[in-house]
Amino acid sequence: MSVPAIEVQNLHRLFGNVHAVRGVSFRIEQGSVTGFIGANGAGKTTTMRILATLDHADQGEARVMGHDVLNDTAKVRQLLGWMPDTLGAYANVTVVEYLDFFARAYGFRGNDRLDRVHDVLDFVELTPLAERMTNKLSKGQGQRLCFARALLNDPQVLILDEPAAGLDPKARVELKRLIRLLADQGATILISSHILSELSEMCNAMLFINDGRIVHHGDAETMRRGTQAGVRVLARIHGPVEAAADWAVTDPDASLLETITGAIRLQLAQDDPATIAAVLRRMVQANLAVTEFRVEERRLEDAFMEMIDGPLPPDMTTPKAPAAPPPLPAATAAPAPAPAATDSSP
Ligand code: ATP
Repeated sequence: MSVPAIEVQNLHRLFGNVHAVRGVSFRIEQGSVTGFIGANGAGKTTTMRILATLDHADQGEARVMGHDVLNDTAKVRQLLGWMPDTLGAYANVTVVEYLDFFARAYGFRGNDRLDRVHDVLDFVELTPLAERMTNKLSKGQGQRLCFARALLNDPQVLILDEPAAGLDPKARVELKRLIRLLADQGATILISSHILSELSEMCNAMLFINDGRIVHHGDAETMRRGTQAGVRVLARIHGPVEAAADWAVTDPDASLLETITGAIRLQLAQDDPATIAAVLRRMVQANLAVTEFRVEERRLEDAFMEMIDGPLPPDMTTPKAPAAPPPLPAATAAPAPAPAATDSSP
């Protein structure tokens, strides 16, 4: 069996009294594209920075392609591409100068360096912007430049921290395409996000972290299918959905998961075609104008919530009216001073 691309054992990281990573262990096989999912502050960046040799664990071990990140740092850096969630402060350089600097740091010299810089620029489709100042790039262009930088050393393992954050839908599609291309070429990719749907199409494995602990690691397809019996159905209704919601309460095979605009989501106890057809028939017999009736793929959001909390009973998943916010206190004190300007643009 080949060496795992990434192996982490009992990793701990404390920042003062904040226990950011609490005994994290996982193993990622070569060639996998793994989504690293967790809420803000769950410990994703901390874990990734340790893997990228940019931070030290307080306890535990991490290996990249079998090399220890602490004892074999140079080798790990040679094998690894790291894309942080920000471009960093390199304001007064052009795109091509920025990449040239890092290519030099990776040891590329002469024409090899020029070729490598132009190859990665082409790959991320930034060649037309090669002479643009990096501080004049849009968010998406900056992300692509970061991505290009992570590819300079032709890494076998790529660690991407929130690469899709802030991208518009077109840029996201493009990012997915590039990630699939690299995966097809054999790279192992660990990619973080706090938005499940961002990763569901590009990953074949999911690693969930919550409050510094891994809560699930498995293949993405199994997660979508889920372990719960039965099936979920989306029924779109012409007319008031409240009538459909009321009907669902009385049906023997269906229970209401939630009411959304123009539709209801149902949990059916069985997933056999006869039960699904019978529920649809009863809806129509109840004079509900059903315009769409569709068995749903399990939402990864639901899977994640079940892993953290256990499954919610159907009636708990129906959105409730939000509680009224407390009234704002009257503005009696003088307003706080405006924060100091932080805009670093020239
Ligand atoms: P996000 O999705 O918001 O980027 P994350 O999952 O990447 O979150 P981390 O950045 O790893 O989370 O942070 C985990 C915890 O550790 C958080 O509570 C954070 O405030 C804390 N933390 C991270 N870095 C530091 C630091 N340098 N000093 C103090 N606390 C830190």
